[in-house]
Amino acid sequence: MAIPSINTFAMKRLTFLGTGTSQGVPIIGCHCPVCQSSDSHDKRLRTSALVSTDQVQVVIDAGPDFRYQMLRAGVENVDAILLTHPHRDHVGGLDDVRPFNYYQKHPMPVYGNAITLKALRTTIPYAFAEHRYPGAPEFTLYEVEDRPFRVGNLEILPFEVMHYKLPITAYRMGDLVYITDAKFISRSSVERIKGCKTLVVNALRKEPHLSHFSLSDALALIEEVRPERAYLTHIGHTMGYAAISAELPAGVEMAYDGLAIDF
Ligand SMILES: [Zn+2]
Ligand SMILES: [Zn+2]
Ligand SMILES: [Zn+2]
Repeated sequence: MAIPSINTFAMKRLTFLGTGTSQGVPIIGCHCPVCQSSDSHDKRLRTSALVSTDQVQVVIDAGPDFRYQMLRAGVENVDAILLTHPHRDHVGGLDDVRPFNYYQKHPMPVYGNAITLKALRTTIPYAFAEHRYPGAPEFTLYEVEDRPFRVGNLEILPFEVMHYKLPITAYRMGDLVYITDAKFISRSSVERIKGCKTLVVNALRKEPHLSHFSLSDALALIEEVRPERAYLTHIGHTMGYAAISAELPAGVEMAYDGLAIDF
């Protein structure tokens, strides 16, 4: 048997569990060419990702498709959930941590900024009620600040980006940076991104949008920080996989559900 190299031990994998904007793609009742597309790359669940090391598995965001995303990816244990912000398309599936509570026999560790954790008390109030219904989901909340923390052997640096007026959280894990729902990134946060090899960033559509990066906003960030490769996520129904992929610069790809990248 070959002796695994140090690199093998150090390898981490990000799997895109969902790459669609808040309504997913296709949108219910929409007859546009992308929603009607037969290309499987145009079937996008709500934005989420799984990060795996040889020791731990962490999920970034748990939107309304969380249950199906766990089943589809065959995920049987989750060591922590990292939340970017409390919008429904990122937290609407938190009730479905219940099987993990049951099998793992402890509350699910959930990380997020102060605004996100506070919002959970109204998003999913019965989980935090004084007299909890038996079987209600259980969480242990950890507030992230501008400093690194660890989940097992995964070191995670949270940093702030702006989603219109809402400060939300992006995450750096070694050479990978994961940003969703950004509209503005401060100079100090751009410094956190610089030097990464793999950048995941949101790109909603070609037209400008009030609270999300457009395609050109995302490409401008990529151009500035020059990662080796970049992947677009949180994609809307005007961005067909084949057509937009053909236009992207070298090293930039449309992510799609199920895509896995090692970093
Ligand atoms: Zn979103
Ligand atoms: Zn459509
Ligand atoms: Zn949002």
